[in-house]
Amino acid sequence: MTIEQKKREDEKTPQRRCLCCRGNGKKVDLLRFVVVDGVICFDLRKKLPGRGYYVCAQRHCIEKAFANGFKRVLKRDPSSLGSDAEAFIASVVLPGLRKRYTELLQSGYASHQLLIGSDSVEEAAKSDALGCYILATDASESTKKKYRLNAQRKGLPCVGLFDRAFYGQLFGKSDKVVLGWLRGSLCESFMPIEAAIRRLEGMREDNEMASDEGEG
Ligand SMILES: [Zn+2]
Repeated sequence: MTIEQKKREDEKTPQRRCLCCRGNGKKVDLLRFVVVDGVICFDLRKKLPGRGYYVCAQRHCIEKAFANGFKRVLKRDPSSLGSDAEAFIASVVLPGLRKRYTELLQSGYASHQLLIGSDSVEEAAKSDALGCYILATDASESTKKKYRLNAQRKGLPCVGLFDRAFYGQLFGKSDKVVLGWLRGSLCESFMPIEAAIRRLEGMREDNEMASDEGEG
């Protein structure tokens, strides 16, 4: 994609404003909440009816939403929110994100957008059809090194949040270490979810890990 194409693409991308920092962000990158029966609900697919309240997928903005924004929204009875932003993140936001993460992988598998196993991932990488690599967190060091290097060369993200047993079980299969997304809308929906979980769980970014390796 040229810079011009990228710019046009960005202009077409729906934007939303964060309830807390008032910053604009891509709709796909923000979390959407709606009020259902007087309770703030995390709208995983951003499709629930009613007015949506968008918040950056950052601890800071969620905490602020919890302390102010959501209370304003629920002015009549904010008690359903509970008193602890940390508990809200742990019991509402993170489980929702993990559920969405699983759903996207499963629909990617069903629609052949998700590739499983090193052979099909490497083949897609050769033909430039690959959108990102996913590695199980318990992949061997040599596998991690190899795929991070491949990803770096191709300018593709190399992500992964769970171990090989988790990825295998998702598809009713034995352990899976290497997976990948074909370029496309599911891959684009998946990346912000993966990044949000990583951020909220306080995991390190993949590029940090890569640069650590470079130094060592
Ligand atoms: Zn924000």
